Amino acid sequence: MNTRRMTRRQFVSQASTGTLAALTLGSLPAYGNLTNKATKLAIQGGTPVRTKAWPSWPIWDRAAEERVLAILRSGNWYRGQGQTVTEFEGKYAQLLGVKRCTCTVNGTNALLTALHALDVGVGDEVIVSPYTFIATYNVVLNSTALPVFADTDPETFQINPDKIEERITERTRAILPVHILGIPADMDRIMAIAKKHNLVVIEDACQAWLAQYRGKCCGTIGDLGCFSFQNSKHLPCGEGGAVVGNDEALMDRIHSFHNCGRPYGSVKGATGYPIMGTNRRMTEYQAAILLNQMQRLEADTQRRWANGQYLTSQIKDIPGIIPCKLYEGTTRAVYHLYPFRYKKEYFNNAPRAKFMAALSAEGVPCSGGYGPQYRDELIEDALTSKNFTRSFPRERLDQYRKELNYPGNDQLCQEAVWLSQNMLLTEKSDMDDIANAIRKIYDNRDKLA
Ligand SMILES: *Cc1c(COP(=O)(O)O)cnc(C)c1O
Repeated sequence: MNTRRMTRRQFVSQASTGTLAALTLGSLPAYGNLTNKATKLAIQGGTPVRTKAWPSWPIWDRAAEERVLAILRSGNWYRGQGQTVTEFEGKYAQLLGVKRCTCTVNGTNALLTALHALDVGVGDEVIVSPYTFIATYNVVLNSTALPVFADTDPETFQINPDKIEERITERTRAILPVHILGIPADMDRIMAIAKKHNLVVIEDACQAWLAQYRGKCCGTIGDLGCFSFQNSKHLPCGEGGAVVGNDEALMDRIHSFHNCGRPYGSVKGATGYPIMGTNRRMTEYQAAILLNQMQRLEADTQRRWANGQYLTSQIKDIPGIIPCKLYEGTTRAVYHLYPFRYKKEYFNNAPRAKFMAALSAEGVPCSGGYGPQYRDELIEDALTSKNFTRSFPRERLDQYRKELNYPGNDQLCQEAVWLSQNMLLTEKSDMDDIANAIRKIYDNRDKLA
């Protein structure tokens, strides 16, 4: 498989099943006392550092099965007839330390709902990070607003706060920071810029359940926070999402909006439908799975954080391997993906693809992560659409096209290497396998290119 072209989801499912089966065949001696140099790279027919499989994902128990079955048997499958979605919303809000939570059908629709609720839409501009899952771009485009990219800081993998203010125009309404890979963005700087320019902040926390910045959960720092519960995520139910916030009136409107515009809390009306809404309701089944999954989230999160920090300590001194830098305010990263950068100059100029193939062969599956998607056709497709040509002056769209160039992001897209979250749900010795595999490739770099 061409790992460079793999999507995150393909990578996640591959990392947890598939190709590893091939590596577990036969019982080969563990990579141990031999010096790295004396050991032939697995990609060249040598013994892999690791033959043991990594944990699969998702993980569930009997109680989840019983809970889903009970809902099936009750016939109350939608939230209007049951209490399961409401129960989850209450418990998730409590877990995050935020007043309110409304579940949605998925994370993409959580973001669309947040943009709508804060009246960010037609003719507006939203500052976003170019280094993210595509939904962060397309929710803005789908709202007929311009996603204005502030370049990525390759050191932190996050939006570079120094690049935000120069992107603000009179049309800018919001900043949409992403805590990408489950690593907190620089929220102090982002909130200060938002305040200064009177912008709203919507956090894309779709990879950052229980990540913390200065002790506060990601998603609870800006005006609204959005989460995804898709199958590959740390709190999964197949498809699902949530919007969280502390403004009661705003959250009432969000609840009403996601339930066809029916009255809710402070949203009252003489007739049945006081506001224009839509249907983005989560089913009872999804919430039942989430209530079950939520029981393991804190322990899993602690494990990923501890193992991630340990792995960083083990690889940081390998020449040409640069772990992701965390902002000073980071109290916990949750490593939906564990990232580092690969500098080929230190590896005999072997291209990243070659390094990743060698690492995978050693029993450590990996991916190159996001490409520079802002260059993909979706942007131009939207800009030439009726909605955009009617909502923005031509000069603005022309200027926007000219500015679509983000060198920090492009550099990161070439250097990044990701490990998937399930690999961190293991022991320190498993982290040693990863570090040993990388070191072995480094020691044999003369044979790599
Ligand atoms: C998963 C994800 C989304 C979208 O969530 P879905 O539930 O898949 O719609 C948005 N942003 C980021 C950063 C994500 O990882």
